[in-house]
Amino acid sequence: MSKFWSPFVKNLVPYVPGEQPKLAKLVKLNTNENPYGPSPKALAAMQTELNDNLRLYPDPNSDLLKQAVARYYGVQGNQVFLGNGSDEVLAHIFHGLLQHDKPLLFPDISYSFYPVYCGLYGITFDAVPLDEQFQINPADYAKPNGGIIFPNPNAPTGCLLALEAVEQILKASPDSVVVVDEAYIDFGGETAITLVDRYPNLLVTQTLSKSRSLAGLRVGLAVGHPDLIEALERIKNSFNSYPLDRLAIVGAAAAFEDREYFDKTCRLVIESREQVVAQLQAKGFEVLPSAANFIFARHPKHDAAGLAAKLREQGVIVRHFKQERIAQFLRISIGAPEQNQALIDGLGDL
Ligand SMILES: *Cc1c(COP(=O)(O)O)cnc(C)c1O
Repeated sequence: MSKFWSPFVKNLVPYVPGEQPKLAKLVKLNTNENPYGPSPKALAAMQTELNDNLRLYPDPNSDLLKQAVARYYGVQGNQVFLGNGSDEVLAHIFHGLLQHDKPLLFPDISYSFYPVYCGLYGITFDAVPLDEQFQINPADYAKPNGGIIFPNPNAPTGCLLALEAVEQILKASPDSVVVVDEAYIDFGGETAITLVDRYPNLLVTQTLSKSRSLAGLRVGLAVGHPDLIEALERIKNSFNSYPLDRLAIVGAAAAFEDREYFDKTCRLVIESREQVVAQLQAKGFEVLPSAANFIFARHPKHDAAGLAAKLREQGVIVRHFKQERIAQFLRISIGAPEQNQALIDGLGDL
């Protein structure tokens, strides 16, 4: 702290991202990165773009990418918003669409950035408990609110909410914006983007960080009614006109065009997930049903923090949250087969 800080900064509680170790040897299963790397076509597009044109500003509207996303999902360009990672997209959503008198609703166990944005933008919230099976119960959200947000599949549980249940939440709060954060939807869920034309209060966010293996590029998006998108464009153009650089625009567009690589790598992650789940269950773990590229598991006889420390000694890092209700769980990203094997070996005989 310093005398130069504004009172606002003194009271800010920032998000703590998962560790990005400087040691290359560690088996990193802690931040849900994709082991397969970006589409070779995305890499080639970025290499071509790596030229003298970098002296020029990028297209402030990222139209090339907007059109690629619109084509992919069968929506119009004015239904798509783009940002520097979906975290930035989410920040603009909190600022522009969720700041109201009534509290914002989200699950008690959910993406830990949500309460941080509430702090940043002065939004009051009401954390709605997941049920005993760690599932979202749509009926719990049918109460007065200034907005609703939840990841689907949920993070860090990995549990998927069926599209009919998402619709139930939308129908019960027609006067609030309902944000479905689909960071992990491509690993086994069905996107709610198919519902945006029927629900003007629905906003769906996605990221290229997980299923398209471009966490280092920082590209995220939102799809919804043009009126919702316009609010986000207003904020963006009052904050940073060029959130996506030239490399990000062409790389992300090429990644969306390469369906074959995308389908193949998602399938490999899903197959590995099912294998890791079975291996952990064989060791006595209880694993929540996952539709994501990570699993959330606890062992009835072993302390989660202890297991995380033991794995770290073996060079495997997983994520442990010191939070009530989930303090005995580990969140484990699905890696390449040899990384997953290192996890299983690192746990040893329990
Ligand atoms: C990873 C993640 C994001 C952020 O993705 P970026 O596009 O990398 O900023 C958003 N929401 C959830 C639930 C995530 O897990």
